[in-house]
Amino acid sequence: MIACTRCGEQNADGARFCSNCANPLGATQPSSEVRKTVTVMFMDAVGSTGLGERTDPESLRRVMTRYFGEIRTIVERHGGTVEKYIGERAGPRSGGAGSPRTGRGQCEASGGDR
Ligand SMILES: [Zn+2]
Repeated sequence: MIACTRCGEQNADGARFCSNCANPLGATQPSSEVRKTVTVMFMDAVGSTGLGERTDPESLRRVMTRYFGEIRTIVERHGGTVEKYIGERAGPRSGGAGSPRTGRGQCEASGGDR
């Protein structure tokens, strides 16, 4: 028998949910839940469409690789991580894994730290 931790009902062995209150049985409750404050920033390279239209793909790739490198350097300098690049857009994230630093990196990445 498995006792429900919510209502105390005795349930058959192997039951996944309490027959009285539908509380999940046997599964460990997520005890490691942690509330994290994260900052998500989205950036867009101004004029990237026009740049792509008038630049050879190989050159554009080199330019964008440098751009992504600069963005990553700035974000990481302030304790953030870059989650992904989508086209010419970057999606940095700060906080969560321990770093409380957020706002300054965002400001610099948006134009103040070139
Ligand atoms: Zn129950």
